[in-house]
Order: sequence, then C-alpha cells, then structure tokens
Amino acid sequence: MSRPIKATVNTAALRHNLYTVKQLAPSANVWSVVKANAYGHGLARCFSALSSTDGFALLNYEEAIFLREAGITQPILLLEGFFKPYDLSLIEAYQLTVAVHSYWQVEALANFAAKKPISVYLKINNGMNRLGFSPDDVATVWQQLSALPSVGKVTLMSHFASADEGEMQMREPLRRLDLATSMLNAPRCYANSAATLWHPGTHHQWIRPGIILYGASPSGRSEDIAGFGLRPVMTLSSEIIAIQEVAPGEGIGYGHRYSTTTTQRIGVIACGYADGYPRHAPSGTPVIVAGKHCHTVGTISMDMMMVDLTHCPEATIGTPVELWGAQLPVDTVGAVAGTLGYELLTAVTQRVPFSVT
Ligand code: PLP
Repeated sequence: MSRPIKATVNTAALRHNLYTVKQLAPSANVWSVVKANAYGHGLARCFSALSSTDGFALLNYEEAIFLREAGITQPILLLEGFFKPYDLSLIEAYQLTVAVHSYWQVEALANFAAKKPISVYLKINNGMNRLGFSPDDVATVWQQLSALPSVGKVTLMSHFASADEGEMQMREPLRRLDLATSMLNAPRCYANSAATLWHPGTHHQWIRPGIILYGASPSGRSEDIAGFGLRPVMTLSSEIIAIQEVAPGEGIGYGHRYSTTTTQRIGVIACGYADGYPRHAPSGTPVIVAGKHCHTVGTISMDMMMVDLTHCPEATIGTPVELWGAQLPVDTVGAVAGTLGYELLTAVTQRVPFSVT
C-alpha cells in the first residue's frame, strides 16, 4: 500500500512542446535545457521524447555522462562550464561542449593537450552580472580561444536577466552584446525561453529554452504563455484521505492559521511539504478536486494539506485531487504561493513516485 500521491510525466506533451519551440524559431538550432534532472521531471524519463533536439544543455557531468552512455550523439553543453582544470579530460572523453566564463578556464584550456579540440561557448556578461566576460574583453578572449589548439568551434553565448519583462528591459543587454560582438564572425546563442517566445531577434543560430519545454511560463504567469499552445508536462496528483464536518469558529491545522466561518466540510489531501508542495502556500491556494476548483485551508503540513470541500459535495474518500498539471497550471499555484513553476517543478521530492504516460 503506498500513499496516493504521484507525479505523472506526459512525454507526448514534452515532444509537442519541443515541436512548438521549433516552429517559433524555425531557423535556429535548439539546445533542450534538461538541467536539474530535466526541471524535476527526470532526465531518464524525458530524453527520448526530446530526441529531435539539436543538443542537450545541462550542468552536471553525471547527467552528461548518463546521456552519452544512453547513446545520445547530439552535442551536450555544460552551461556553467567546468569547475576544475582536470575536468577537461572528462569533457574531452565524452565530447562535451563547454561554457567558458572566466580567465582561469581560458588558461586551463591553453594548458590542456587535447587529442580532439573541445567546442567552447564564450559567455558574455550582458548585465546580469552572474557569469561571463565583460563586453570590453570579449573580442580579445575570442581571439585567444580561437588560437588555442585545444579549442574547436567558439560560439558566443549570453543569458538575459529580464527577457520576460518587455522590450525596454532588453535594450541595454542587446546594446552591450552588440558592442561586444559586432566585429566577430561567430555563431551566437542567447535566447532562453522568454527570449524564444518574446524576442525573435535574439534567436540567431542556437536557442536554449528550458521551462517552456515543460509547459510552464518563464514569467511565472500562466496567462502569458496561453497563446503558444504549450502543454503542461508534469501533473502532481493525490487523493482525499479523510473528510470531516467542522463547526464554525474552529481552527484548521498547525497554528490555526485558518478558522471556519460556517460549518465547513474539510478534506485532507495526502500531499505536504515533504513531497515538495510549498509550505508557504496560503489558505486559498487552488487545487482541483473531482475536476472542480477548490481551495486549501490552513498551514500545509509535512505530509498532508486541508481543502475546503463545502461546495464539492461529490468529493469522498479516494476522490482524485490535482495539485498542478493538466487542469491547473503550475504557475497559477506558484503565483498564489509567491513562487514560480520553475521552483515547484524542481522541488518535488524523491518520495513521490513518478510514472510516464
Ligand atoms: N541558459 C542558461 C545559462 C540558464 O541558466 C538557463 C536556466 O536558468 C536556461 C538557458 C534556460 O532558461 P529557461 O528555463 O528560462 O528557458
């Protein structure tokens, strides 16, 4: 007997979303971003559905090696680059493409005797101020890298801080990129999901979408992606495991953060923060019970949460509950809980059993 909570991964939706992305950027190659175990969906479950991608982008060597050993022949890009000079042997052995964002990495490549040149993504800081070379230094670093025998193709890479916030927020990053690269004849890879959707001028030769492949919104607002035909890939569901009538004026759950106003029918759902549901989701967070919109009441517990079933008389013990997914966008839950689909999808914990449809 296992708890009724489960996560279901819809691989047809994943395949469809990749197809949709390709339609949006028909002249660009696509790096499917599968970091963080495919945004919490499970890399092993997802990579076959993404087989028509032009490359896979991720962070961990373990995940990259897993893909190679599973027979993936497309390029694999390490988005954060390498962490120690001795990692280069492994990068060469598994033919990985690697981001280069710091001078010590250029030096490590210069000191590395590669049998086969390593493809490199030269990362440019366009104002996010996280990783990357200053626009002033890019031409010099590009020349240095291009001259190294250990380095093969050099692609220009950059990441946007606010591509989901409109044209104005893109002006300065684009100006800096232009300044850094206008003299360089090299392929470019700039667009994440938001830029893929809303800034087609940034598509260039390669795009790097992540969250939209999984059917969630880069802005955290589900309505922003409504017109693109993307489908949610993960559905997190459970069941009602107990129901009680609670008199008016009674507190519900830890700290009695919610009090009944009338006699209310309170259901208990087998899902809590130890499953990855956000503990800070307030009373009023939507859940779907028997296909109907209902709302949580009280503090989310480790293993359970409560739902008001007063207007859902058809709900009984064993009635299915969707926490997010096909009927309830993960971003809708995220918006109420003060977070994003990104965080919710990647936070589902190991004790939740996954299945694939
Ligand atoms: N490229 C880089 C360097 C990233 O760090 C990420 C994710 O944060 C992505 C691409 C994909 O971003 P998104 O999921 O917003 O498409």
